[in-house]
Amino acid sequence: MPEVGAEVVVVGSANVDLVLPVRRIPRPGETVLASGLTRGPGGKGANQAVAAARAGARTAFVAALGDDDDGALLRSALGESGVDLSLVTTSDAPTGTAIITVDESGENAITVAPSANAGLTLSADAVAAIGTAKIVLSQLEIPFGTVQAAAGASGYFILNAAPAAELSDELLAHVDLLVVNETEAEAVAGAKLASLLDRVPAAVVTLGAAGAVVLTRTAGEVRVPGVPVEVVDTTAAGDTFCGVLAATLASTSTTESDLTNAVRRANVAASLSVQAAGAIPSVPHGDAIDARAA
Ligand code: ADP
Repeated sequence: MPEVGAEVVVVGSANVDLVLPVRRIPRPGETVLASGLTRGPGGKGANQAVAAARAGARTAFVAALGDDDDGALLRSALGESGVDLSLVTTSDAPTGTAIITVDESGENAITVAPSANAGLTLSADAVAAIGTAKIVLSQLEIPFGTVQAAAGASGYFILNAAPAAELSDELLAHVDLLVVNETEAEAVAGAKLASLLDRVPAAVVTLGAAGAVVLTRTAGEVRVPGVPVEVVDTTAAGDTFCGVLAATLASTSTTESDLTNAVRRANVAASLSVQAAGAIPSVPHGDAIDARAA
């Protein structure tokens, strides 16, 4: 159990990212040469836990790692960022791996081998930490049943429905806030963003360089414009957004106006992350976010 109760609990995946810079992302059947290969810590859950911790929230991570060098790399990256690892378990399966090709414009294509992530379940300690956290945040790189169990045990549950998937009413019944990009939004509720509110009480749709839109049943749609920046690598932009959003909501409240302010801060943080390469290495700290937001 975390020694001091966590404000944010992230239940999710941890992967080692193998990043291949390419001139162009290969089309089906095509082979391209990469200009290099780097190995770094990542995975949606790990990225979001680091983003929440660096943004200033006491953050615990519920995840499964392999007993291998990749697991050790993730433990050290998460630990250095101040993430509580007492709920991270060691699996017989290897640590998850993601193969990421990034092109010259910063666009990426990602294939994930879930490995240890596919066996993640909630221990009694994890359920207890989830029950007392202010905010619980999860994504879809772990089994649906685990996401569902976390949602059911949470006070305020944020689902980042990524990678894109169709979602059951049973799961959505426990979602307080849905965070999706445009592709994921369409998988959940079709092309009309407002239809998300037929399924969840509040949603944030991220729009890449155009920022984000906040949708609530009481205030309708509020647009938060993007921050114009030079893009280096968009890996973990959405994860930075989600982690910082969770951390900011944990330090304020989840009312509509606090939600919009938290989205503004998350948007600034994500715009900082696209200016640096890699997943966890690109996640900004709270002081950098607030210097930029001020
Ligand atoms: P994902 O990376 O999950 O597909 P988006 O592309 O919508 O999600 O990006 C998530 C967030 O990252 C955006 O809401 C925005 O805050 C930030 N972001 C992404 N791309 C850019 C960009 N080119 N310029 C500035 N901010 C960006």
